[in-house]
Amino acid sequence: MNADLTAAERTRILAKAALFSPPTPVTADGRRDLVGMSRAELAAEMDAIGEKPFRVKQIWHWIYHQGVTDFARMSSIARPLQAKLAEKFVIGRPEAATVQTSADATRKWLFRFRDGQQAETVYIPDPDEDRGALCISSQVGCTLSCTFCHTGTQTLVRNLGPAEIVGQFMAARDTYGEWPSPKGETPRLLSTIVLMGMGEPLYNYENVAQAMKIVMDNEGIALSRRRITLSTSGVVPMMDRCGSELGVGLAVSLHAVRDDLRDELVPLNRKYPIADLLAACRRYPGASNARRITFEYVMLKGINDSEADARELVRLIDGIPAKVNLIPFNPWPGSAYETSSGNAQHRFARIVMEAGYASPIRTPRGRDILAACGQLRTESERAPRGSEKGQGAPPPGPKRHAQRAFARRTSP
Ligand code: SAH
Ligand code: SF4
Repeated sequence: MNADLTAAERTRILAKAALFSPPTPVTADGRRDLVGMSRAELAAEMDAIGEKPFRVKQIWHWIYHQGVTDFARMSSIARPLQAKLAEKFVIGRPEAATVQTSADATRKWLFRFRDGQQAETVYIPDPDEDRGALCISSQVGCTLSCTFCHTGTQTLVRNLGPAEIVGQFMAARDTYGEWPSPKGETPRLLSTIVLMGMGEPLYNYENVAQAMKIVMDNEGIALSRRRITLSTSGVVPMMDRCGSELGVGLAVSLHAVRDDLRDELVPLNRKYPIADLLAACRRYPGASNARRITFEYVMLKGINDSEADARELVRLIDGIPAKVNLIPFNPWPGSAYETSSGNAQHRFARIVMEAGYASPIRTPRGRDILAACGQLRTESERAPRGSEKGQGAPPPGPKRHAQRAFARRTSP
């Protein structure tokens, strides 16, 4: 793809994302949520109520370092100002509609946002150490329809806003009592963020970027970009920007080594085929041996798990500092695939490993509560055209129908 085309595509993607914007984070009584604002936005709010710029630093510290949700606990701020802030603002958290814990200690939250829309977040504790990864959602539903993914059966309802994206992390941290943020030390239990929940983060780039900048801000949560990984199904025109502006780790959902098969499994491939995707990976800023690109590869029995596939994979990624995560397919109600046999997984892993790439077979986590990769889905639906809240997208029926029909066709 040449540079002009990429720029035009990027503009189109950002314009489309704006059509699915989240509502302004305001409570029913008209108070604005301070969570999710950039420093500049917070400064503008302070200015509007006649407060000096230094308040931004102060309030930022209370919100993102101390984790307080109550202005009355901001002891460095005088009582009258605390009251004034509380009149105009809140420090919000998404409401946990349900929380489930798996037999393997994986935890899943169903978060409900102010407009009633819902998304899921998963905490995956490290079985050997006191730390873990929080898997965050970026959208309610997904526009893409990867055939093996449960989220893919749900139409895109809307994008999540910065308050909702950072809010998932902050609410999870509340649960584990992890405030204040550790300063200059290794973070504790919630030590990494993976943007691998519901949705395609690069189709909601602006909101995801604002949220990640807040999470990485040194005076707050201060998570290093090395502890954040963004997973994309291959939105090629946004990958460069993600690398240069955020510098977070990149995971790419490859899943197939031939365009004809990837066109079926990851339909976005019809727009950005494998060669374009790998070229974007080669250009990804910061990709090095210390900072390898992760290729995700779901193991589907009899579909993409042959030894020839493994050899072709190695040929394709030649020269890219990479690691290959082999993800045994996680079934969900109505899914049409089977997980590759243990033998097939090991044969595949060995070929990739012998070519010099780490190729761990991921242990499924939280399957019993539908919290594993690709099992997330909520009942949120986009309101039909013409209704009060609707913004004109078709109801979700046809996608699900097409999905099932397609799944039947490709059923092994
Ligand atoms: N939309 C982004 C991030 C969310 S999905 C993306 O597609 O990359 C996170 C990972 O789970 C992706 O690699 C996705 O392909 C994988 N996945 C989806 N459904 C799965 C399933 N049923 N079993 C195993 N992995 C799955
Ligand atoms: Fe969307 Fe990712 Fe699922 Fe594909 S795998 S449908 S891009 S969430």
